Amino acid sequence: MPMRYRSTRGTATVAFGDVLLEGLAADGGLYVPESYPQVSAATLAEWRVLLTERGYAALAYEVLRLFITDMPETELRALTAQAYHEDVFGSRAVTPLTPMGSDGIWLAHLSNGPTAAFKDLAMQLLGRLFEYELTRRDTWLTVLGATSGDTGSSAEEALRGLNRVRVAMLTPRGRMTPFQRAQMYHICDPNIANIAIDGVFDDCQDLVKAVNGDAAYKAAHHIGAVNSINVARLLAQVVYAFATWLQVVPAGELTPVSFAVPTGNFGDILSVHVAKQLGLPVAELLLATNENNVLEEFFSSGVYRPRGSAQTYATSSPSMDISKASNLERFVFDLVGRDPERTAALFTQAESGFFDLSGEMEFRRQRERYGIVAGASSHADRVATIARSWREHQILIDPHTAAGVHVARKMLATGEVTTPVIAYETALPVKFAATIREAVGFDPPVPERFGGLLEHSQRVIDLPNDVDTLKAWLATAFHE
Ligand SMILES: *Cc1c(COP(=O)(O)O)cnc(C)c1O
Repeated sequence: MPMRYRSTRGTATVAFGDVLLEGLAADGGLYVPESYPQVSAATLAEWRVLLTERGYAALAYEVLRLFITDMPETELRALTAQAYHEDVFGSRAVTPLTPMGSDGIWLAHLSNGPTAAFKDLAMQLLGRLFEYELTRRDTWLTVLGATSGDTGSSAEEALRGLNRVRVAMLTPRGRMTPFQRAQMYHICDPNIANIAIDGVFDDCQDLVKAVNGDAAYKAAHHIGAVNSINVARLLAQVVYAFATWLQVVPAGELTPVSFAVPTGNFGDILSVHVAKQLGLPVAELLLATNENNVLEEFFSSGVYRPRGSAQTYATSSPSMDISKASNLERFVFDLVGRDPERTAALFTQAESGFFDLSGEMEFRRQRERYGIVAGASSHADRVATIARSWREHQILIDPHTAAGVHVARKMLATGEVTTPVIAYETALPVKFAATIREAVGFDPPVPERFGGLLEHSQRVIDLPNDVDTLKAWLATAFHE
């Protein structure tokens, strides 16, 4: 069955190739698959054999083939084999798991890629999909992205040196760790530009949205996206919900498992939601925020009130310092019965204030139907969680992963969650040395591939938080 895509704010359907290059839809909505194909128990059993015998890449091909139907199968097979090669991710399993003692928590290692964050899993595929599609059309793309740290380096590692892709990445000045800065700013390939904006992550994201909102400019300058609004990233992330579940649940069983997901832009957790809609036995989706708890507030109260940059705190889990989660729209679209007009009205309302679903039946049934349960953490919670994981299990986790593990432990202890929990490890500790030192009293180990990174020379362009300045800069930047 060919798969088409539609905007959360419209009804027209679009082919995958167009969605891949367009990013955000012209009506301001986000693209979603037109329908969710159903994965049977028999298929799950086949996928288990594939994963065990042929590795993650073979499973990735099967999952992606459900959604990417207008590409020759041999091409897609080749792409996934390259993206998920053991040379890129360190093992054929790509996303192995470690049990955290007998706590009922399994740590899913999603961060063994080139930049030590889970985003590599999607970017490695995305770069190859871009190259394929742009070559086929004989055209080029300027990727304009916003990053609070990990997206940027992950995208740049995946896209550097490509002929048909240029990258302009906006970063919030002074809001990333030294390691994150070095990871991005040391990349000096001619097709890559790092930009420091005078503002926080949400300001960067607003600039990206504003540029994309100018349809004529967007078309003239071939503007595309790699942030989690790009549907290809979402699809790539669905793969490891299956891969990790298959490694935790024994053959022949269909035990529901819960997932604990450190959340910022609602991308990673949305991929678990999609996997659940496909038929993966998922019990609860534990949404973990830090002090920037807009999403926890929404799932607890029904009120979604995005915050401005002045109310967005810089925390020890910077990749979650987000107060306006773009991907939430994709979930709410499902929640309101895939009604594009309703979705458009709600998110237009949120632009200038808030929306409130607390009185709605669909919201009150959310937990039983979709299973999202939210929790927050403070800096002290995360530090304590890192210390305890080290003390009790000799497992060193980063502050983002700790946000998820904190919520998982709390919900298991109160009995709110009664299933095993797969906790996503979203970054390696090396990226957040100061917090690790505070928690355990020593520096995190530096994986060999990052030796000397902090000493590399760096290149970054400073721009004000102003869309016209950005547009003017982009129009000439890659033509010198
Ligand atoms: C991006 C990121 C997150 C948040 O993921 P979303 O998909 O935006 O919700 C969490 N932890 C780390 C380390 C990240 O890089």
